[in-house]
Amino acid sequence: MACLFGLAVSGRAEGEDSRLFEATGERLGRVILLAEQAGESEAEALQDLGFDCLLVQAARVEDLEEKLAWARRELGAGCVVVSLDGSARGLLSTQVDAGDVAGCVLIAPFLDSSWPPPSAKWGPLLLLPREPQATACEAWVKQARAAGVEAETRSVGGAIDRDNDPLQKSVRRFVLAHSGLAPRGLPGVTFVASPNWDVRSKGDTIDTVVVHATVINTMEATQRAFLDDKIRRVSAHYVVDRDGTIVQMVDERASAWHAGVSELEGRPGVNDFSVGVELINLNDGKDPYPNAQVAALARIIQDLRSRWSVPDGRIVSHASIARPVGRKSDPLGFDFERLYRVLDR
Ligand SMILES: [Zn+2]
Repeated sequence: MACLFGLAVSGRAEGEDSRLFEATGERLGRVILLAEQAGESEAEALQDLGFDCLLVQAARVEDLEEKLAWARRELGAGCVVVSLDGSARGLLSTQVDAGDVAGCVLIAPFLDSSWPPPSAKWGPLLLLPREPQATACEAWVKQARAAGVEAETRSVGGAIDRDNDPLQKSVRRFVLAHSGLAPRGLPGVTFVASPNWDVRSKGDTIDTVVVHATVINTMEATQRAFLDDKIRRVSAHYVVDRDGTIVQMVDERASAWHAGVSELEGRPGVNDFSVGVELINLNDGKDPYPNAQVAALARIIQDLRSRWSVPDGRIVSHASIARPVGRKSDPLGFDFERLYRVLDR
């Protein structure tokens, strides 16, 4: 058992059945894990993924109200409630004021006629049903949205305590998106959050920078594309304008959707281990890359190198990693030797 200290010893009756599993490594958020019983292996997995996890077991709704109120006071504002199996109905029917809870993930909720109608109290909500419940959850989420509750349902397989299962990744994405963490990246630049990102696979580290040219002619239009284009759904960590202005759009902890089908040194899925940088440029081979823009790209790479090992040989063009070969040509006309010289200065 990886429990670091038991809150039960604090003498609070409400916390008797609750245990805090403190995040190992960098703290990425706080989770109240709600279970009718057990839940230890899920709590350990969340702890291992960087979340402070307060495991609250309650078999009866009456207990749950008191325990939830206590757990929220313990963890403070901005925590996410993750409910396992049967505890979902109990959670939604409690009289506890959710107040500053950042949202709820309901894992394998069993929907039946006893479910309370959707209320905004515990939103935003993410439902991750098992297959037989998928249709019922879709109907409930539709109702929830009609009632103004931010809700989503996704049928994904797996478990919280199996690394990189789609279900575990969905939980991580939700907690990261709602925990209010400052994004990791170059200090002092504007952050405009694109919705187009995934959590990285557990254990993946960044060792590659992919350089792109936008083809789109302005910073403003590029940002719009990364925010609103529901069809192409693309993004990059950074966009660099011709005058050197940098805007960050995806947290470096997450993978942006910039590389598409890709491969580097035999490794597929370059998004997983790279940071993507888009240079505003028409990609016609004639549009120049001004000094200020190259200097800003070098600044991003130097800052990345303070956290990760990114050798010169892994600063690559989109054209060189896109598959099938020839699918992409960007950044056309960009001189990597010139970038290395700036990086060497
Ligand atoms: Zn590209």
